[in-house]
Amino acid sequence: MANIVAIVGRPNVGKSTLFNRLTEQRQAIMDNQSGVTRDRHYGFAEWTDKHFTVIDTGGYVVGSEDVFEGAIREQVEIALDEATVVLFVVDTMTGMTGLDEDFANVLRRSNKPVYVVANKSETAERRQAAAEFYALGLGDPYPVSAQDGGGTGDLLDKVITHFQSDGVENPNGGIPRISILGRPNVGKSSFVNVLLGQERNIVTDIAGTTRDAINTRYRAYGQDFILTDTAGIRRKSKIKDNIEFYSILRSLKAMEESDVCIVMLDATRGFESQDFNIIGQAIRAKKGVVVMINKWDAVEKDHKTADHWRKEMIQRMMPIDYLPIMFASVHEKQRIFQVIEKAMEVYENKHKKITTSKLNEAMQPEIEAYPPPSTKGKQIKIKYMLQLPTPSPTFVFFCNLPQYIKESYERFLENKLRAHFGFDGVPITLFFRQK
Ligand code: GDP
Ligand code: GDP
Repeated sequence: MANIVAIVGRPNVGKSTLFNRLTEQRQAIMDNQSGVTRDRHYGFAEWTDKHFTVIDTGGYVVGSEDVFEGAIREQVEIALDEATVVLFVVDTMTGMTGLDEDFANVLRRSNKPVYVVANKSETAERRQAAAEFYALGLGDPYPVSAQDGGGTGDLLDKVITHFQSDGVENPNGGIPRISILGRPNVGKSSFVNVLLGQERNIVTDIAGTTRDAINTRYRAYGQDFILTDTAGIRRKSKIKDNIEFYSILRSLKAMEESDVCIVMLDATRGFESQDFNIIGQAIRAKKGVVVMINKWDAVEKDHKTADHWRKEMIQRMMPIDYLPIMFASVHEKQRIFQVIEKAMEVYENKHKKITTSKLNEAMQPEIEAYPPPSTKGKQIKIKYMLQLPTPSPTFVFFCNLPQYIKESYERFLENKLRAHFGFDGVPITLFFRQK
């Protein structure tokens, strides 16, 4: 259904530059340091109204760091499995290498359409040099420059001919996007690894190893969703300032791009203000939120402990009292699938649409029983209400004197909406308009 274009090739040929060019986003962190690896990376692209997903497979890692090789090769294979079209990037500045030939041998055996992308072909000379890659046995090379975009149009014209459907549906639409947020070391990447049932993130103590946000399509309970792991930088790594900068930016971006945020807390450390900041940010961005208190295995507890935590948490978050709070242990695989289920439920809540008649049927009696208190001797009358077709639940109440509706009454209406229609985990916006 979805059209997927995978970018493969040896390191430094310009894969992530091409990825950025196609997705027009800073999706991949670019860094020339050796030993910096990336996991499979998704982004969304469009060419002449055809939408498709691009995967940057990251690189085979240079030289002696063959610790990574198996892991990365596996990921290239996963990317190949999923791809509709493969873009095999080579470099006209360095010319053909043995590693290019190794890649070609693997790619010739796959039955996917493969395009040889002769990158860095800014000059006429290099465009000519591109012809040498014909020897790879994968058809005519396409000279392009990922850097300035030259030649990419001709390439994409060919690529889209392989798309099954017309791909007009926006791949962003319809698939729930879940991000996992939280302070460092709460267990975000352990969580993702368990969910995926494999070591996906390459976590080693080798200096310079960084991880990027990783978007992974995942299937559970018969539903597709995209999981974004915003796990930051390993503390042990030597951090380059710009990588850290991007990592924070990306974490915010991942939140922005997701529908539901799972905000992870560390039970062994209790609540910290940073946790509430993250939750507050997600709520302000009108995201669904599930609070996951991790490492529940590591705290001493009796049958009252969870309740106690929940109460304290809600008190500290007031007036936000509608977030699901889950106690889990990634290590003991306790309730982690329930957390995902809850996130899907919150996604449904976020997209729930209440018809105008149902809404008025439920809410008018509530308003009659407890009308807005009159202000300055004036009676305030709410006539009717409706839900707007917005990405997160938004209701408009039409009334005679919208400016006199007090915040406490707004909260009353919100609570009644929640009581009738169940918007667990989702911020609700209310507007009052004159009618
Ligand atoms: P990757 O390891 O294959 O993902 O390669 P990168 O995208 O990180 O690029 C490696 C280097 O090649 C970087 O220094 C880029 O700036 C450079 N590069 C990428 N694309 C082009 C291009 O089209 N022309 C030129 N001249 N350099 C490029
Ligand atoms: P991240 O920085 O948020 O991605 O955190 P990591 O996934 O790297 O985990 C940080 C540390 O917490 C590691 O030492 C994990 O082994 C540990 N950890 C993760 N989940 C649990 C858990 O459920 N229980 C306990 N006791 N430790 C955990």
